[in-house]
Amino acid sequence: MAYLRFKAIDTINNRKTEPVTTPSNKISDFYGINVFGQDAMKKYISSGAYKALMAAIEQGEKIDPETADAVAAGMKAWAIERGATHYTHWFQPLTDATAEKHDAFFEVENGIAIEKFKGSALVQQEPDASSFPSGGIRQTFEARGYTGWDPTSPAFLMGTTLCIPTIFVSYTGELLDYKGPLLRSIAALDKAAVAVCDYFDKDITKVYCTLGPEQEYFLVDEALYNARPDLVMAGRTVFGHSPARGQQLEDHYFGSIPPRVHNFMIDFEIEAMKLGIPIKTRHNEVAPSQFEVAPTFEDLNLSCDHNQLLMDLMSKVAERHHLRVLFHEKPFAGINGSGKHNNWSIATNTGKNLLSPSSKPKENLIFLTFFVNVIKAVHDYADLLRCSIASAGNDHRLGANEAPPAIMSVFIGQTMTDILDELENNGNVKISKGDNLYMKLGISRIPELILDNTDRNRTSPFAFTGNKFEFRAVGASANSAWPMTVLNTIVAETLTKFKAEVDKQIDKGEKKEVAIVNVLREYVKASKRIRFEGNGYSEEWIQEAAKRGLSNVKTTPEALDFMISKPAIEVFEKHEVLNHKELEARYEIMLEKYIKKIQIEGRVIGDLAVNHIIPTAIAYQNKLISNVKGLKDLGLDEEAKPVIETIKEISKHTKTILTEVENMTEARKKANNMDNTKQRAMSYCYDVKSKFDIIRYAVDKLELIVDDEDWPLPKYREMLFIR
Ligand code: ADP
Ligand code: MG
Repeated sequence: MAYLRFKAIDTINNRKTEPVTTPSNKISDFYGINVFGQDAMKKYISSGAYKALMAAIEQGEKIDPETADAVAAGMKAWAIERGATHYTHWFQPLTDATAEKHDAFFEVENGIAIEKFKGSALVQQEPDASSFPSGGIRQTFEARGYTGWDPTSPAFLMGTTLCIPTIFVSYTGELLDYKGPLLRSIAALDKAAVAVCDYFDKDITKVYCTLGPEQEYFLVDEALYNARPDLVMAGRTVFGHSPARGQQLEDHYFGSIPPRVHNFMIDFEIEAMKLGIPIKTRHNEVAPSQFEVAPTFEDLNLSCDHNQLLMDLMSKVAERHHLRVLFHEKPFAGINGSGKHNNWSIATNTGKNLLSPSSKPKENLIFLTFFVNVIKAVHDYADLLRCSIASAGNDHRLGANEAPPAIMSVFIGQTMTDILDELENNGNVKISKGDNLYMKLGISRIPELILDNTDRNRTSPFAFTGNKFEFRAVGASANSAWPMTVLNTIVAETLTKFKAEVDKQIDKGEKKEVAIVNVLREYVKASKRIRFEGNGYSEEWIQEAAKRGLSNVKTTPEALDFMISKPAIEVFEKHEVLNHKELEARYEIMLEKYIKKIQIEGRVIGDLAVNHIIPTAIAYQNKLISNVKGLKDLGLDEEAKPVIETIKEISKHTKTILTEVENMTEARKKANNMDNTKQRAMSYCYDVKSKFDIIRYAVDKLELIVDDEDWPLPKYREMLFIR
């Protein structure tokens, strides 16, 4: 029975480190060669069309058919020269993966074979929308949807396919993807932020967001992975006793990277670099077999595309190295899970990072304005932000005494705490002639650099790290676009309100700077309870947060409610990011996704427990029974006693497993019969999922009892230490 497991161990003992070949020692020689970027565009499309395209991108205008035709022709020539045979609209439906449908350039026209790709095919396509989640928007007779070109994210080459980043819309015009709302939220933030920047600097005419996502992941050998049906089906281990050596030695973090893994990293980084993904850092993470990759930050939309692409690439390249990448938030119980830390900031067309303090007091008022507004936004919409990171996988991290808690809070460090305290206690400032305005306002002493590595709080879900905010609670497998969409939208709303309040004071005759500081002071006070500098994993924080009236929503079905709450619908509609119909559809889709995940886990648990674990336990128990009979034959009744105890112990656990699997199956049946999606999700969450741990406990106990030679599933100690 344990054949697969031992065959796998045998296989990995004979593994060799796969070689990698670097195209050149200089990254700049191959960086971006698979991207139809600025250089390629200039070379392959006429300067007139190029200018029209750039203008359209910068001003967010519609691209005329002639320009589209010219760009398509250039793209086609560029791609075919590089061996492309097909093109596809690459999009991000509300599943966990990206989608593509390949069409050949090749066509036969009047009996003559030609390679064709027109502007119309670049701009719009009609994939069969019926195979993607739509949350009830799409009627069956209207199964069409279409994809629309996003010219702000460059086309790229994957193998022999030209991939064109697009948004995905239902036939009736509702957004059914991650990119569409993200683009709208970026526009909303741009508008609101530029209006506020106008107080400080008339040259700021465009504001855009930046993102640098730090991606955590686990690696498992392919042979062991294939011997674990739970990893294959659910992406996480549903059983497995903790190894004798876990992360308690804390020796993995920043330790040396095993050669096999190292080569895998180099390999996927080369592929990523070719696609213009600016990979910057690689290192081990806290848990054994856990690693991290982080790019240099980029424009938010591009960075989200790049992260999706990178995850895809990593999975593909891993196969060459006989490895499997796990992006699940909690693939192994008892050791750290994986997140995707979203480092987010706002930058201007004048090259300024609005969340970066400067040495000049005058410039610091703009920094402080954006800094305080972000905190206020998180305070006012904490629930919506919590909802944006809700998933079945992330439930294992949030609120599970590890990684950021489910309570949203903001960490800002000692320096900024002091500054906000000073601002808060500053009273109503009267400015007289000759006063140093900024000194008087109490904002003259912000140090230029607050980047201090010791000043980091790893337990905070949302932390200021010197020149950006780091949304750490995002799950490793998530598409960053959704939490970023929410963040942009709520910050846009806060800035809009802020501007209105400042204007009101200015209209009443208040000096501009004083008006700004007055409103900031109110915001600092009003949002104070969201700030927390202590240990986010501690029991005290849970109690303290409750006292402060902060939400602590631990499960996905409950967190998702906020998406269709009144304030959420209002803010999304006001900023034209998503309408209520789109939100309701999204809500349905996310609930369904949650249900499916738990359903799959339940099935895997039932199957493994009943068909793999129970037979193994009984076979071993039979061995013990013969042993007892043998001992008794020899008159060794006393010696047989402990063996009999073990036999009973095995029976106890097998009985628990059989009973609870039965209960779980019944609970699933009951849940499946519920018409209401929310009710069904709640039932999966509370009635079905609650059996998982009980079953797991019994299985993990059996793992410790049953002869190692007989145990069918690769053990944690075998999976977690890569050789
Ligand atoms: P660490 O957090 O490990 O100390 P860094 O501060 O250098 O490392 O950056 C971590 C991530 O934050 C990187 O992906 C980096 O590109 C990103 N980052 C740095 N500055 C910004 C910014 N202004 N906007 C968005 N992301 C940023
Ligand atoms: Mg970090």
